[in-house]
Amino acid sequence: MIFLKADREMELIFNRLIKTMKVSVEWTGNFVILEDYLILLGRVRSLLFNFESRKAVTNIVDIPIKEDALVMIEENGMLKNTLNMTLYVFGKWGSISGLRVEKQYGQLNELFTGILNDISVKPDLNETNLRFYKEGIRLNYEDVIQLVIEAKHDEEALDEIAQEEKIGLWHNVCWKKAAYEILRAEVTKEERKQNRIGNHFSLVGYLCPVCQKKLYQIVYSYEHEPLIDTEEGRVFLARAYTCNQCQSYYTARPQKLFAEGDLYELEYHDDTKAYEDYQELLGANADLDYNCRFNEFEADRKRAKQEEGTNQETNDGVNPEPIEEIAEVAVNQLMDHIEADLERMSEEECNEIDERISSKMEEGFYSPKTVSRYEQYAKPKLMLRIRQIKKEEERKSEKERKQREERENRKLKYDGKMKVLSRLSDFQIKEMVQNLSDEKILEPVEKQAYLDLIEQEKLRRQKERAEKNGDKFKESNTEKTDDINKTDNQKEKSEHKEKSDHKEKSDHKEKSDHKETGDIKETGDIKETDGIKENNNQKEKNNKERNVIKEKGSIKEKGDLKGKGNIRELDGIKGRSGIEERDDIKETVKKNRADHIDKTGGTIKQTVEERKAGTIDHSARETNAEQTDSEKRTAQKIQAEEREFQNREVNYNDIKKSEINETMMRQRDNRPIEVQKHEIAGYVNRARKNNRSDYTSLIEELEEKNYAQEVVDPVKEKLKERIAQLDQKEIDEICAEISDESFAESYEAYEKIEQGDFLPELKKDAMDQIEKRLRKIKTEECELLIKKIRNDWPEELQTHPRIHFYPARRVLQNEAEPEEYEHFQQAVKHFAPPRTKFELPIILLDASKKEDGSAGILITEDYVYISATFEAFMIPIIKIDCVELKKGLLGSSLWIIQKDKNSNKLRCMLPKEELATLAQVLTEFLQYLQEKPESRKIDYLAKAKHEIICCLRCGYKYKDGQICPKCGYKINL
Ligand SMILES: [Zn+2]
Ligand SMILES: [Zn+2]
Repeated sequence: MIFLKADREMELIFNRLIKTMKVSVEWTGNFVILEDYLILLGRVRSLLFNFESRKAVTNIVDIPIKEDALVMIEENGMLKNTLNMTLYVFGKWGSISGLRVEKQYGQLNELFTGILNDISVKPDLNETNLRFYKEGIRLNYEDVIQLVIEAKHDEEALDEIAQEEKIGLWHNVCWKKAAYEILRAEVTKEERKQNRIGNHFSLVGYLCPVCQKKLYQIVYSYEHEPLIDTEEGRVFLARAYTCNQCQSYYTARPQKLFAEGDLYELEYHDDTKAYEDYQELLGANADLDYNCRFNEFEADRKRAKQEEGTNQETNDGVNPEPIEEIAEVAVNQLMDHIEADLERMSEEECNEIDERISSKMEEGFYSPKTVSRYEQYAKPKLMLRIRQIKKEEERKSEKERKQREERENRKLKYDGKMKVLSRLSDFQIKEMVQNLSDEKILEPVEKQAYLDLIEQEKLRRQKERAEKNGDKFKESNTEKTDDINKTDNQKEKSEHKEKSDHKEKSDHKEKSDHKETGDIKETGDIKETDGIKENNNQKEKNNKERNVIKEKGSIKEKGDLKGKGNIRELDGIKGRSGIEERDDIKETVKKNRADHIDKTGGTIKQTVEERKAGTIDHSARETNAEQTDSEKRTAQKIQAEEREFQNREVNYNDIKKSEINETMMRQRDNRPIEVQKHEIAGYVNRARKNNRSDYTSLIEELEEKNYAQEVVDPVKEKLKERIAQLDQKEIDEICAEISDESFAESYEAYEKIEQGDFLPELKKDAMDQIEKRLRKIKTEECELLIKKIRNDWPEELQTHPRIHFYPARRVLQNEAEPEEYEHFQQAVKHFAPPRTKFELPIILLDASKKEDGSAGILITEDYVYISATFEAFMIPIIKIDCVELKKGLLGSSLWIIQKDKNSNKLRCMLPKEELATLAQVLTEFLQYLQEKPESRKIDYLAKAKHEIICCLRCGYKYKDGQICPKCGYKINL
């Protein structure tokens, strides 16, 4: 016997039933379930339903309620539905006067099956009774209720599991090209055996190119190679690598070794679940430790197969040798080559062969037999040969070194003698000349240099003697001129040598100077380096100081434009040179930026002043009695504008502002109205007016010109009307694509209940369930997308006061504080009304004056909502190409470019330096949103079952089974 206490909802339903049946039962709100009876316990009479006998009667029953055995119904949906079932069953049997159930027995059975699905109980309702079966065994109603109550606990547990079984974000399972340097790691056989991460991945002697942790390898046999999608087409995967720290997969491009670093890469970053699912999927078919083939394009393999096919026909069915055997033969031949030609091989060749074979061995190309043959016989020989070559080379270089030393010593000796040359006797000199000519150690050039010096000394002595002998020399002088000329040359040469010696020294000094100031060349700015070289050449003591000043100077020049970049540059310089003045420099840069902003502010202020002066002019004219009406109006308008302008003035100091202000600052055209009208008409006629952005830019252009407002305003109005028409058309088209009707249509479960003549309570409940589930999925997704942004975007954008992230989960759980989402409320109110039922905002770029979110850009999963100068509009994300930073007359601004080349300007309050980054990260984010698989759409999610399954993680479409064959996602429906 089971005692149940009804909650408010159950009380309402069953009290209404009692009323409908017009029976005199005063229900206590307690149910008693006994075998096939459901009893509504009354104070005097009770109402009894029997599922076996079809009877619904009142009677006096005396069952004392055991308070401690009383089960609360509360939020147990299945229990409620199982109780509600009573109404349909007895309604169908006609036992309840006033309640008629139109549904067929079959339909009702289907509905009940759905309700009891979770406890695997099959109902069988027919004209005579309602029975229940579990695994072929009949249960009574009491058993069923008992199972439902027990299932409640399981359900709670399941809920927790479901909490953990997060769906994660979608991944495009397409391997991307990447190039890395792959480093080797020493891994012993023991380590290889002990370190397996499961799924047939085992430790391998390579390091992760990103984090330098050891990688794991998986190798497939030829028959089991899986096909993967890459940027370059489909590839048969012979082997793959993974880093379980980075959660990335790698593999070599076709016909390449992994060691070469020409790779494909598949990253899962921090989505551990997706990473592990894929690993399991890859591991499922691996069965071998080696495969002599490289990765191969599917197209190449197909072609090869066809050729093989035709060859086979011509070869009269003689099978060609299998590629495995060919490979083994090839490596064996290579080893034979080592054996035979070892003596003739260079070190380079030895290393090359070893490198290639070792890489292939590491990457599992060879059978264990081949590996051991190489390791035991061939490799030691190669290594020995390399050692021999090295020793020989060492011997050779040792000999050379000795010779060099000897020569240096000899040179020192002669250098010493040259210094005292003038003091040597003629005989000693003669002896030295003799020695020099017999010299074997010195190079001929070196010898000649000494001989030249000696010759010089000889001449000097001759001259000296000649001077002593007076005229005697003069006579012979003419004959000797040539000789003397020659010696002059020699003299010059030696002087030159001295100089170059000196230069060498000074060069050396220069170099050390460079070292002191840091190798500034490396900072990259060639001009700056040139300057520094000049300074160095002057070799002044304050060289160092000057360099610093120079650096500062150049930064001063650039400071206005890209202060940040320069600070980064300086960081680099500091790192290398140890200049400690960076803070000063930073200050200078800051100051310069401030100056610049001041200046800009100043200009605006100035213009404002000028403008005021203009107004005074106008008011002066206003006193003139002969003023025409239109002039008066214009003046009034301008005055009003002026007031507004003054109100805005505060903003100009902190924000360098936009085009509109610029136009407002200009004087209006004073020419006759008719002339202006004519001109505008012509202008508008000639302008291109194909699409929306043509119209908006036309309006902007008109704004920029100085026409009188009364002339330009009506034209603008007309153009805006046209824009509105275009927008309406666009919206209509999109609504046709994604209308609420089609949404409801696909809402299969929802619809089924809607059409049934069920009690509203039951209907509402089922719908609530679906809605709750969908809302949860979408909230989860929104949270994950924001987490993704937080991973991908630079810090300065994430913390910018103008950028807001929607606290989806906290809002769903009623935990969010108003200040966390009020910007979004304003955005939704002013320019971003949600277009579909479960649409959630993700990110808001606030561009409103009040900083309250009432203008700007709001991105949801499917749309970008934009508040422009004139009105708000939205673009479906699927139509967007990119976000671009465009330089215009009035500064740079962000534009959103659609795939059909339409473009719209975005209002954005971020500083200029950050716009380029923002454009890039926004584009990447929007492109990611475009990859969203169809399975993530509400109408897909709302369906309980699908003919063709679209994977929730990767979007791959397939027919049967919960597990996606492409990414390994496990719970597809
Ligand atoms: Zn890694
Ligand atoms: Zn998938």
